Amino acid sequence: MSESNAQTLCKACGLCCSGHLFSWVRLNANELDKTEALGLKVIRNDPRQRGFLQPCPVWQGGICTVYTLPDYPRSCEKYKCIVLRKLLDEEIDFPDATNQIEETLGLIREVENLLPASAITSFRERLIAHKEDVEKLDEQNLIEKEFLQKAGELLNLYESRFGVDDFIDYEK
Ligand code: SF4
Ligand code: SF4
Repeated sequence: MSESNAQTLCKACGLCCSGHLFSWVRLNANELDKTEALGLKVIRNDPRQRGFLQPCPVWQGGICTVYTLPDYPRSCEKYKCIVLRKLLDEEIDFPDATNQIEETLGLIREVENLLPASAITSFRERLIAHKEDVEKLDEQNLIEKEFLQKAGELLNLYESRFGVDDFIDYEK
């Protein structure tokens, strides 16, 4: 497995940077100033959510533009989704990994089409907010039922392929 296959996969994906998997990323206290200096929107006043917001503004053209800098966030350095880890461990081959990411991106597009318009830029937040709203309804229309079904499928993929298994944000 060459390093470039992993880079190609992540470049085509970006789900862990684009606000689809995570709505924020955890930072250590000593990273706050340095991360803000990179151009990221840092949250300081809530210790339970100390970190920076996604979608990440330095994810541009499929590339993390701060990847090689010394202050690259530690959580970003650590996070590898399950698909990427399996590719690196040669448990799956590149076409299989690519198919898994493309299938997830396709399902995200379908869910996106069923979400109401919103000023919230994080897909993850929009997904959760709408799912909670629809689940509270006494009766759901066909579109809402379709949304719940596809959102459920997507959240299952988030767990099995990306290790994100709750509405709580995990350390990236
Ligand atoms: S979600 Fe996985 S494949 Fe996608 S960019 Fe992040 S680490 Fe790479
Ligand atoms: S700093 Fe880079 S790796 Fe981390 S979320 Fe932003 S674009 Fe992704």
